[in-house]
Amino acid sequence: MDVMRAVLLGPPGAGKGTQADLIREALGVPHISTGDLLRTAVREGTDLGIQAKGYMDRGKLVPDELVVGLIRERLAGDAAGGFLLDGFPRNVAQGETLEQLLQETGVALDHVVSLAVPDGELIDRLLGRGRSDDTESTIRERLAVYEGETAPLCEFYRDRSLLREIDGLGTPEEISRRIMSRVN
Ligand code: ADP
Repeated sequence: MDVMRAVLLGPPGAGKGTQADLIREALGVPHISTGDLLRTAVREGTDLGIQAKGYMDRGKLVPDELVVGLIRERLAGDAAGGFLLDGFPRNVAQGETLEQLLQETGVALDHVVSLAVPDGELIDRLLGRGRSDDTESTIRERLAVYEGETAPLCEFYRDRSLLREIDGLGTPEEISRRIMSRVN
C-alpha cells in the first residue's frame, strides 16, 4: 500500500483519538494530535504551554501561529512517510496553511475522514471522560467553536474531493472498519 496522509475531522468527543489509535497501526503511519502535543507542552511548562493553557481551559482555539509552529516541526519529519493528523486543521486558515506546507514538500492529502456524532451523545461522552477541560461550560464552548470554525472545513475538503463522511455511532471497532473500508 502507498504511504497515506490523512486528517481526522470531527467535533470534540467524536472519537478521533480512539480511532487514530485503532487505525494508525493498520495504516503504518504516525498519529499527530495537536491536542496531545499541546497538553504535553502545558504539563512540561514550556513557553508554548504557558501561552496555550488559558485558551484550552476556556475551550477556545489556541492562536494559529502557536499551533502552526508545532505542526510545521512535526510534519517536516513525518510528511514524506505519511501521517494521521488529529485536531489539525481546526479552521479554514489552518487548512490553507496545511495545504501550503504540504505543497512545499511536494506531497498532498489523500483523505479527510469526518466523524459524525449527534450533540447529545457528544456531551455524554465528554462528561464521562473527565479531562480537565471537560466541564459542562467548556464543552458547550468547544461545541460552539466546532460549529463556527471547524465545521466549515467540511465544505473546504468536499470542494477538493477529499471528504469521507463516516457515521461515528457504534463500537470503536465498527467505526474503524467503516473508516478502513473508505480509505483503502
Ligand atoms: P477535543 O477534540 O476533545 O476538543 P483536543 O485534544 O483535540 O480535544 O483539543 C483540546 C484543546 O486544544 C482545544 O479545545 C484547543 O484549545 C486546543 N487545540 C487543539 N488543536 C488545536 C488547533 N489545531 N488549533 C487551535 N487550538 C487547538
